[in-house]
Amino acid sequence: MPAPVIAIVIPVFNEQAVLPELCARLTALFDAGHGCEWRAVLVDDGSRDQSVALLHAQAARDPRFEIIELSRNFGFQSALAAGLVHAAKADAVVTMDADLQDPPEVIPEFVTAWQGGAEVVRATRRSRAETGLRRLGFDLFHAVFRRLSDFPIEPNTGTFGLLGRDALEAYHQLPERHRFFPGLRAWIGFPSAAVFYDRQERAAGQPQQTFRRLIRYALDGVFSFSHLPLRMLTYAGLFVALMGFAIGLFFIVRRLLGVEIAFTGFTTIATLVLFLGGIQLIGIGVLGEYLGRMYDEVKQRPLYVVKRRTVARR
Ligand code: UDP
Ligand code: MG
Repeated sequence: MPAPVIAIVIPVFNEQAVLPELCARLTALFDAGHGCEWRAVLVDDGSRDQSVALLHAQAARDPRFEIIELSRNFGFQSALAAGLVHAAKADAVVTMDADLQDPPEVIPEFVTAWQGGAEVVRATRRSRAETGLRRLGFDLFHAVFRRLSDFPIEPNTGTFGLLGRDALEAYHQLPERHRFFPGLRAWIGFPSAAVFYDRQERAAGQPQQTFRRLIRYALDGVFSFSHLPLRMLTYAGLFVALMGFAIGLFFIVRRLLGVEIAFTGFTTIATLVLFLGGIQLIGIGVLGEYLGRMYDEVKQRPLYVVKRRTVARR
């Protein structure tokens, strides 16, 4: 039986500081072999530094490194999708970050789990090196997402993991534009396995995902995998309507009993108007989140545009 082909898909955006170490550690993994034939699919997501030049130098040295260049910066999820499409012929694909927060040395364990029958392998963090606001944000997101999502993702998992051929094919059937990879991976099902690892600090350079972008992904995760925000609006509406009915009844009864109406109550009215206005605006905002996403789906724009592929002839 020929050795299985494993493609490692890595989005790269302004990573010149880590690329030499990344390539060296991948090469060490590839040379060790572990009974597989390896490819690295590096997707340049419109880098503005020396990343592309470094990637080309690496591809010229070692034909196992393949490069896809996107025409501009499309964002991590789109770059990942581009790499996964390119890797469609591999027997299994590994998804990981370029910054070595995901250590390539655990990849052989994914392969073992895959050969043991798991179509989907999730790397599960035993620990996380991040601290401060970023960390708090990640933890909060995972807690909220677990409650909201119809397809909860395992806590402490991210992009890092492996998909077998069948799982990859299923993933490619999901056409949506707002992609949240861990959620999509949970959606497709298949037997899965977890491999534990320690999430490292970035090997070098700065995080390339801005906080704003991370928040957008978090919202994509919630709105793509749950209708709960809409249902909560219905509940809020019911609650307010019931309160309104009760308060109305109270005043009518008082009036019928002949209680004098004094001309006070400005505070009450102002509070009610502002409260109701607020609830309605929130409602419109939530509707807008779904509507905007629907608009993006309807437009059917491609997820990314490929500028150039560099693949060695085999
Ligand atoms: N990345 C990308 N496009 C972007 C931003 C980031 O391809 O617009 C890549 C980046 O090069 C890295 C991975 O996505 O390989 C994760 O980025 P980062 O480490 O900045 O994010 P975090 O670890 O905070 O999720
Ligand atoms: Mg990172």
